[in-house]
Amino acid sequence: MTSSIVRVALDVPLPSGFDYLSQDANADDVGRRVSVPFGRKEKIGVVLEVLASSDVPLEKLKPVRAILRDAPPFPPDWLALVDFCSRYYQHPIGETIALALPPALRRRDALPRMPDRTAFRITEEGRRMLPQLAQRSIAARLLAALVLSGSMSRRELRTVSAAAARRLPDLLEKGWLAATIDAPDLKAMAGPDLLDEQRLAVDGVAQAFGRFEPFLLHGVTGSGKTEVYLRLIDRVLGRGGQALVLVPEIALTPQFEARVSNRFPGARLVSLHSSLADGARAAGFLQAMNGEADIVLGTRLSVFTPMPRLGLLVVDEEHDASFKQQEGMRYSARDVAVWRAKQRGVPVVLGSATPSLESWAAAQAGRYRLLALPRRAVAEALPDVRCVDIRREKLQDGMSEHLLRALAHRLERGEQSLVFLNRRGYAPVLACPSCGWVSRCPGCAANLVVHLADRRLRCHHCGREERIPTACPACGNQDIHPFGRGTQRLEETLAARYPQARILRVDRDSAKSQSRWHGVLDAIHKGEADILVGTQMLAKGHDFPLLTLVGVLNADAALFAADFRAPERLFSQLMQVGGRSGRAALPGEVLIQTQYPDHPLYRALAAHDYAAFAAAQLAERERAGFPPSTHQAMLRAEAPELAQALAFLKAAGESGHALRTGEVSLYDAVPMRLHRLAHLERAQMLAESRSRPALQAFLAQWVAAIRGLKASKALRWHVDVDPLEF
Ligand code: ADP
Ligand code: ZN
Ligand code: ZN
Repeated sequence: MTSSIVRVALDVPLPSGFDYLSQDANADDVGRRVSVPFGRKEKIGVVLEVLASSDVPLEKLKPVRAILRDAPPFPPDWLALVDFCSRYYQHPIGETIALALPPALRRRDALPRMPDRTAFRITEEGRRMLPQLAQRSIAARLLAALVLSGSMSRRELRTVSAAAARRLPDLLEKGWLAATIDAPDLKAMAGPDLLDEQRLAVDGVAQAFGRFEPFLLHGVTGSGKTEVYLRLIDRVLGRGGQALVLVPEIALTPQFEARVSNRFPGARLVSLHSSLADGARAAGFLQAMNGEADIVLGTRLSVFTPMPRLGLLVVDEEHDASFKQQEGMRYSARDVAVWRAKQRGVPVVLGSATPSLESWAAAQAGRYRLLALPRRAVAEALPDVRCVDIRREKLQDGMSEHLLRALAHRLERGEQSLVFLNRRGYAPVLACPSCGWVSRCPGCAANLVVHLADRRLRCHHCGREERIPTACPACGNQDIHPFGRGTQRLEETLAARYPQARILRVDRDSAKSQSRWHGVLDAIHKGEADILVGTQMLAKGHDFPLLTLVGVLNADAALFAADFRAPERLFSQLMQVGGRSGRAALPGEVLIQTQYPDHPLYRALAAHDYAAFAAAQLAERERAGFPPSTHQAMLRAEAPELAQALAFLKAAGESGHALRTGEVSLYDAVPMRLHRLAHLERAQMLAESRSRPALQAFLAQWVAAIRGLKASKALRWHVDVDPLEF
């Protein structure tokens, strides 16, 4: 028997595949998992190619341990997808594949058990035999149960008799039973009559079924975007297709999943996110890959789910930063979704009330087709947004008279309010007024935040925790204070002011687990809270029918931040959080406390004029040469000493300057804004170009050159293509 060579992608930080010998590999094994020796260990990889020869001398090649044929191979379009990501994001192919696979498939685990959809029915022969069987026999009880219920699953039959599983093969053989796999019932439950704009949007996308077209669905909060997605899913299922729906954080959006499964009770819905158990995640992945899932709903990682019948992609809240992975391969699931739609020749819908400026610019340029839902589906009107000028008013515990009065009104009327403060903890810092000491994190360029509830100081960047000291560690002064205000302190203040009110704080600390979070949402819905105190966690996609007032504290800092994306984020956050109010029959009001009531950002917000805001921002970005008018990539290095990181970047910069063309600019290395994180100093260097292909070509060469640079073991580097963080 001739042996062949397989090229295998392994989860190691090296750019190419590894060659192994195999006795029985054939072309069908491309995309299969294999187990191979690597160093002293065994690793699971994926076959990229089956080759006749290798550049490595034959005698040096090790044999494959096993080709794992227990599951079908990953299909060619999936391999092309991970290959694209590996090249575009300059990330090793083996690590890219490892990231795209559910953890259980990266190991040699037994494959997860797939849901059993077999249905058993009694045959004519079975009906004839039934009266002749001993009444209490297992066979008679099973057949009788099937006469009554028509069809039963294996599990249901086991409740009739524990011995059912053992008897079934025999009964099937005798022809008394028949087993069928029931086709899913893809019928949708009825939805509301669509508004004209919704119908136009649905028809527009549906006309693109079977070919690639990107759509930007720009709909104000509550305009019925989700309803549009549901109708499109219905249409795509009707054509025999699969739908892939990406949402920002599934843990935060149980309502979305419930809406999909309520609308399509018979469809096979797989949801994928990182907090699922390994077995369930692998099972969902394989079901989708085998074509046995109709709808895949998930967070960014689900963009890598293989789907043979893929007919539609949806990215809900496409502006959300969680679609961008911030470690390992720094991919944007939204951008990968668009690439995938193109690869597969299907439409993709990006939906948002506040699209990313990248997507908005693409729509303005005609590269994406814009679909607009300019009015709310149920509420009378958008909330009334007003600025409260706090230069003229003395604040009481951070709140203006105006806001306090508005809160009191809501309490009288039994309506809900939300006070939005995007800072969790009790206070951002603990300080000593006598010597000037402040609670700094020893590992980070950041303060330790005061969490009074459990008497801890906590770093929100590295997770470090310590007890709150009783005296100043520097001078011994016992009179040290929390400075500033976080959600815990606000909660305390409001409780003191409105002792009769039920106050509910909603931030990452108060909603740590899924079940607690569900409990919180439930309480809000049932009207068990009068005043919500919350961070941006509350801003995302929830419907709170009783909420009529949103107060915004301390938003101004973002107006003048060094990060050019800060205004975009602020606008979107405030529009989203404001959009929580007045979603049902009651009108909503949003009060923004600010020192800059005439700032164009707040004016656009008050006018609900996203387009004006976006146009102004895009013009400013164009002038300054920021994305989307340019394309960027960031080389980052981190090391125990800043000098090490900078020296590495300097060397990288020198090789970069030798490689770059005039179309690509390379800037000097600078420390990052959070320049120290978990005891590592961090610096970065920006590469930029007006041409994406030029930047891509440069990056490929540059990264290869950087791999050849000598660097200390303690130094880590990575490339972030289309970075969001600075
Ligand atoms: P979005 O996703 O844009 O925030 P949703 O799809 O959640 O909006 O719709 C907001 C509310 O309006 C939901 O309660 C939804 O059931 C309702 N809704 C959506 N479309 C319609 C319609 N055509 N007629 C009546 N109600 C609708
Ligand atoms: Zn002191
Ligand atoms: Zn820290």
